[in-house]
Amino acid sequence: MHITVLSGGVGGSRFIEGLLRVKDPDDDVTVIVNTADDISLFGLRISPDLDTVMYTLGDGIDRERGWGRTDESWNAKDELGAYGVAEAWFGLGDRDIATHLLRTMRLQQGRTLTEVTAELCERWRPGVSLLPMSDDRVETHIGIDRDGVRELIHFQEYWIRLRASVPVEEVVVQGVLDATPAPGVVEAIVGADVVLLPPSNPIVSIGPIVAVAGIRDALATTTAPVVGVSPIIGTGAVRGMADQLLTGLGIDLSAAGVAAHHGHRESGGVLDGWLIDSSDDVQLATIDALGVTCRAVPLWMTDEPATDQLVRDTMALALHIGTRR
Ligand code: GDP
Ligand code: CA
Repeated sequence: MHITVLSGGVGGSRFIEGLLRVKDPDDDVTVIVNTADDISLFGLRISPDLDTVMYTLGDGIDRERGWGRTDESWNAKDELGAYGVAEAWFGLGDRDIATHLLRTMRLQQGRTLTEVTAELCERWRPGVSLLPMSDDRVETHIGIDRDGVRELIHFQEYWIRLRASVPVEEVVVQGVLDATPAPGVVEAIVGADVVLLPPSNPIVSIGPIVAVAGIRDALATTTAPVVGVSPIIGTGAVRGMADQLLTGLGIDLSAAGVAAHHGHRESGGVLDGWLIDSSDDVQLATIDALGVTCRAVPLWMTDEPATDQLVRDTMALALHIGTRR
């Protein structure tokens, strides 16, 4: 089977680790990663979600933190802070900086992000084909209210410096309307047997990927079932801060609210199937009413067995939908 996954950073990485443990050895996995979190700081081009997936699958991630490199030191960041540089809020570890240096140099030499990612993956050997969603520059900016004045700030500044603590007035995915899918992305979706949306932030991770017109078209036309896992359990984001983003956009903070936001594939949305947590089973009927085939199973990826079981449940729903078509 060809399995294609649309992913943000941490949630997607955990899920894909499970997928690589559970899948048939002959199955291949392509991961299409959100690049709208990308940012330029200190002249460096930084791709946080690509790096999180690459480091996690390549066993170079700091597991406790969930992002960045193992055995990291922070000398450069501390030195920048000592200069009183405002941008020193961003977590740039010394080892991590090497990745950004190489990426930035290659981009300046005229390589595409797809090509740079392939070069980085020669070292990390993530066991999947790792593709940026687009080689075009796309960046999510968040509209906040600062003393009565609307201000657009980069998503990273909102997420890391402000800890997502300020109400969201709007989300602007700059460049996404002009962006084209990176090479291989459309083929990976149209040629897939199964397309999976692991638990990822629906607004700033999955949102920008499916907002690329060519990707949305591919999702509309693929014969593969498209099945997602809710990043919301109960009335809160799991290990996340997605709450402000969802409520700011008027989306109900629930698994059903996110399913309705993604929408049913036959009504212009992206989902055929949706997994919600067992504790949310009262929402099954609401989601079925959207036309989306829903199952309630344990969604907490607390350890490897739980993650693996979630992957099996996701694949089972996808195959069930697939054989019905
Ligand atoms: P990023 O790392 O910031 O790019 O975040 P992601 O796009 O990967 O999304 C993380 C999302 O995954 C958060 O909104 C969480 O709600 C969700 N999440 C994290 N851990 C789990 C889990 O164990 N189970 C489920 N269902 N969702 C999770
Ligand atoms: Ca991210």
